[in-house]
Amino acid sequence: MALLSSSFRFARDWGECALNLAFPWPESAAAAPVRIKPPFCRQCGEPFPALPADDPSFICHHCAERKWHFQWARAGYRTEGQVLEAITGFKYRDEYYRYRQLSAWLVETFDRYAGHDSWDALVPVPLYHRRHRERGFNQAHELARNLARARKMRVLDVLYRYRETDSQAELDREARWKNMAGAFQMKRGFDVKGSRLLLLDDVFTTGATVDACAQALAKAGARQLAVLTVARS
Ligand SMILES: [Zn+2]
Repeated sequence: MALLSSSFRFARDWGECALNLAFPWPESAAAAPVRIKPPFCRQCGEPFPALPADDPSFICHHCAERKWHFQWARAGYRTEGQVLEAITGFKYRDEYYRYRQLSAWLVETFDRYAGHDSWDALVPVPLYHRRHRERGFNQAHELARNLARARKMRVLDVLYRYRETDSQAELDREARWKNMAGAFQMKRGFDVKGSRLLLLDDVFTTGATVDACAQALAKAGARQLAVLTVARS
């Protein structure tokens, strides 16, 4: 399996390299990336521009109502324009080369919000195995791998998604939470007791997916849990 996966990566990287030489990247017509800036909710990271900039204690009404299993979540950009184009291309249109731009955005977001803390490992949100097979890769794992390489960190692929939880895009907020509850478990043979873990994904939408991951990690004894995504809707 490991051999298969590395041969796949090798072939893909070479294919991509040849493609880039033949067809340099076109200029995107989509709107420029919109960076998310403070002030924001200290827990979920949703920006509230009318807040006083010197009030870091604000918690939004979603967070006041819900008990998250992570301490905080931050995202670099809004899921729109060039960022949306890169994410959908990467995940749904076989544009693997998008990982470079997405990873660069993630590294920059990491430096802004998480670089001052120390982490034992990065934990990518896993895909359901059937989806993983169809796509050929897990976007969260690819981004985690690149961030780990750039900032000398470790990736721990410790979570298993043991049931299909897709078609999330068609579900409303509450249905997403129900659909996601208990969808992730720890893989056997890993110990995260006392660890400081940073969960990684491409997009934060309602937070249901990352929270279900955080719940599994918290149950396994992780000491500190936070979430970093390239974008949020
Ligand atoms: Zn919030």
